[in-house]
Amino acid sequence: MARVYNFGAGPATLPVDVLQEAQADLVDYKGSGMSIMEMSHRGKEYDAVHNEAVANIKELLGLNDDYAVLFLQGGASLQFAMLPMNFLGEGQTADYVNAGSWGAAAVKQARLIGNVSIAADCQKDIPTRMPELSEMKWTPGAVYSHITTNETISGAQFKALPETGSPLIADMSSDILSRPLDYSRCTVIYAGAQKNLGPSGVALVAIRKDFAEKGNISLPAMLRYQTHIENNSLYNTPPCFSIYMLCLTTRWLKKVGPENLFKQNRDKAQLIYDAIDASGFYRGTAKKEYRSDMNVTFRLPTEELETLFIKQASEAGMKQLKGHRSVGGIRASIYNAFPVDGVQALVAFMKDFEARNG
Ligand SMILES: *Cc1c(COP(=O)(O)O)cnc(C)c1O
Repeated sequence: MARVYNFGAGPATLPVDVLQEAQADLVDYKGSGMSIMEMSHRGKEYDAVHNEAVANIKELLGLNDDYAVLFLQGGASLQFAMLPMNFLGEGQTADYVNAGSWGAAAVKQARLIGNVSIAADCQKDIPTRMPELSEMKWTPGAVYSHITTNETISGAQFKALPETGSPLIADMSSDILSRPLDYSRCTVIYAGAQKNLGPSGVALVAIRKDFAEKGNISLPAMLRYQTHIENNSLYNTPPCFSIYMLCLTTRWLKKVGPENLFKQNRDKAQLIYDAIDASGFYRGTAKKEYRSDMNVTFRLPTEELETLFIKQASEAGMKQLKGHRSVGGIRASIYNAFPVDGVQALVAFMKDFEARNG
């Protein structure tokens, strides 16, 4: 078996243990004579997986029964639209922080539905960053406030959740369960699973039930949170295999232990940032206070050197280090499942590359 170090931003690397368990169970799931992909989503085998995934997510996020955990389709991107469709009515205002490409994408969809107030705009700032607490302006009486906790493309991350004065909604697609956080400060948390939680095909939504009850009742059933809450995400056929993989990943997260994982994530990021700061060759793209622990972004002196860096890293088994096409540069995505030895290999490669080209 030859696994590479996959620095891809999403879909991203999965724990090898999880892949192997899925492989072992693929053709004949626990003696049932069929795979989990072929079973009824209303049968007892699948039901156990589904409910364990819900319970594990609730436990890991530290959420009580005031919250519903949903598994929806359409990715985080559908949430950009579903949230305002449900909660941003006529004559109301929702606050949005626009601090990067994903925040901007959420704003764009919300504006199609209702009135958006930009609490802070630093989307185009270089070095990339999140807004300071003092520069965010919250609307009194806003129906909700929306933030993107980690901007996956620029590599900037909120280090704490802001006090916003209205129900806080957070897109945590690229940093959910990567660090200790009081998740119950949020009224809604959502995340495409393919970065920190499993494969693509399923989006996690954790939502306060009392908030969901206020959702627009004239929407089609599939677009209402209330529908999915009442049906435990089984109103229609859910993405069973993706949820099964998410279940295995949450089991793995519990086994590693959140404390160990959080420390490991911080240490992994620090190793690369230390290498950047110790060199005059590499330049971090995010402001230091807001550097992401999940997506480490940096530049080399020229684009030619960046191309060479990506090519030679790939030849050395370190894949997908190319920055997002909209910004260029290098991006090392090191989510929960990314191994420490992969980070050590990258740092060694960075030093060697600088010695040869610096
Ligand atoms: C990847 C990403 C998205 C988009 O997720 P999809 O599941 O592809 O819709 C949204 N927000 C953030 C912060 C992301 O990293």
